[in-house]
Amino acid sequence: MNIHEYQAKEILRSYGAPVGKGVPVLKAEDAAKAVEELGGPVWVVKAQIHAGGRGKGTFKEAEAGEKGGVRVVKAEDEAIAMVEQMLGKTLVTHQTGPAGKQVGRVYVEAGAGIARELYLSLLVDRETSRISFIASTEGGMDIEEVAAETPEKILTFSVDPATGVMPFHGRKVAKALGLEGLAAKQCIKLIGTLYRMFVEKDASLVEINPLIVTEDGNLLCLDCKMNFDSNALYRHPEIMELRDETEEDEKELAASKYDLNYISLDGEIGCMVNGAGLAMATMDIIKLYGSEPANFLDVGGGATKEKVTEAFKIITSDPNVKGILVNIFGGIMRCDVIAEGVIAAVKEVGLKVPLVVRLEGTNVELGKDIINKSGLDVIAADNLADAAEKIVKAVKG
Ligand code: ADP
Ligand code: MG
Repeated sequence: MNIHEYQAKEILRSYGAPVGKGVPVLKAEDAAKAVEELGGPVWVVKAQIHAGGRGKGTFKEAEAGEKGGVRVVKAEDEAIAMVEQMLGKTLVTHQTGPAGKQVGRVYVEAGAGIARELYLSLLVDRETSRISFIASTEGGMDIEEVAAETPEKILTFSVDPATGVMPFHGRKVAKALGLEGLAAKQCIKLIGTLYRMFVEKDASLVEINPLIVTEDGNLLCLDCKMNFDSNALYRHPEIMELRDETEEDEKELAASKYDLNYISLDGEIGCMVNGAGLAMATMDIIKLYGSEPANFLDVGGGATKEKVTEAFKIITSDPNVKGILVNIFGGIMRCDVIAEGVIAAVKEVGLKVPLVVRLEGTNVELGKDIINKSGLDVIAADNLADAAEKIVKAVKG
């Protein structure tokens, strides 16, 4: 799960990490109060969306200006106007895709005097099964770009969970970042703080880009992205509260309410499959036959008729879906339950695109029988290849 920059900074603050003063604004009428509270003389108005690259992004609406989602302003009335302009507008960055993201919240922050911009992040490294640190002197840039062009400017190491983070880890980072004196001391402390926070909060990513050295020689976290392990959220109600549903894909949100594993994709063939492996194989074979999947959907082993109906509704609500492929192997899941779910859903939402159904396994004859007797216009398929070929043909003609 993702949270906003201002929420991430609130967590950093609660751990004693260095962050500046700031006030989030959710409604335009609160803009003046936030700006006055900060007092200036420099304000930074920052669009809060679950995507990076805001500074270099552009607004779709001309009246929000085109200079991006992070603006430095030096007058109170200008800061207020900027907040009002950004709210409700659509910001496009290299991470949002061309559709952009609507700005529902704005963070007004005290302007910082920047001497240097650095990069620091923590993530779960699957290779070592440990928490890794990444540090670089090239802050403010995408780390992927730095890794591609000047990999020697990046320091990475992982921390042994048996010892946890040690002072030498901090000294290593401080040295790599070229920090001395006060800033080096602050860096060593920050490394320990971030590691503790990462573990305690079950984070999967904490990225501070940039971490700055201020003009008076202090470290300050100027931007922060945090992701959390969704499977651990049950023990962090305080983080669950930070969820901003308006940032999430509507279809994925609906699916999560029914405990369906659903991911929106860009293709044209909607897929309803049970089992993540079979779902992956189904997506692959759709591609093999020359089309693209519109989604990944694993209805799971214990799907009920209601769950299947909901899954079907989510698929058909996607305007890009030109055809649907139901591919179920009934092991724990019974084919007749799937068949009933599909029929109930079609009766409720109607069927405007071709539907291919491939059933195999427990109660397969009963399932096929239910579909055949339903009077629905369903194309039956015998195996995975046959099913993929038929749906691609039905869609492409
Ligand atoms: P993003 O990564 O989404 O573009 P950032 O928060 O990193 O957003 O902001 C982009 C740039 O704007 C930073 O690299 C920094 O140069 C500048 N910036 C951001 N916040 C402040 C601030 N409070 N004071 C001064 N400059 C800032
Ligand atoms: Mg940034």
